[in-house]
Amino acid sequence: MSSITILRLSHRAGRDPRMSTHLGLTARVYGASAFLLCGDNDQAILDSLNDVKERFGGEMEVRHESSPLGFLRNFIAEGGIAVHLTMYGLSYQEVIPELASDKPIVIVVGGAKVGREYFEMCQYNVAVGNQPHSEVAALAAFLERLNDGVSPPEDFTSGKFTIHPSERGKDLREDA
Ligand code: SAM
Repeated sequence: MSSITILRLSHRAGRDPRMSTHLGLTARVYGASAFLLCGDNDQAILDSLNDVKERFGGEMEVRHESSPLGFLRNFIAEGGIAVHLTMYGLSYQEVIPELASDKPIVIVVGGAKVGREYFEMCQYNVAVGNQPHSEVAALAAFLERLNDGVSPPEDFTSGKFTIHPSERGKDLREDA
């Protein structure tokens, strides 16, 4: 799998904390190497995602990105593939098989309003159904299909705790 970065546009502190945190959690569980929060520089979101990393492992970098268009321009110039999730795009079932598997991918997830520049700059505008959708659900569905499942437990061994699958109840163990 090539490296995956999630670019979350237009975060609004005070209005979007749950949605942006859940995008970060979704990115993490599907093996993204970076989650970049754009819009308001909301330290509480970054702290909360880093806290999950400390407790449950993983390697995902989390940071604020003040220039999403500049980031995208460089990413594409360096050979990366930019995929913009939008209900106006082409079907994800059709696009995913076309994506080069040996190139880094950035997945752009919008906020309240997405500027035309993103539609023009990204090489792929991709829809998870051409209907309004939750951005968290759209990201999860896209990554599930791209990666064929969530990352394996071996990718999350660096934390303080491990969750062991259990038929009933909670089996949470502190790692030595
Ligand atoms: N009204 C906004 C606009 O100007 O496009 C979209 C708002 S929507 C709540 C927020 C984000 O969810 C979108 O930018 C997109 O990334 C994602 N999203 C919503 N519906 C989607 C769909 N059907 N397929 C893929 N992504 C979708």
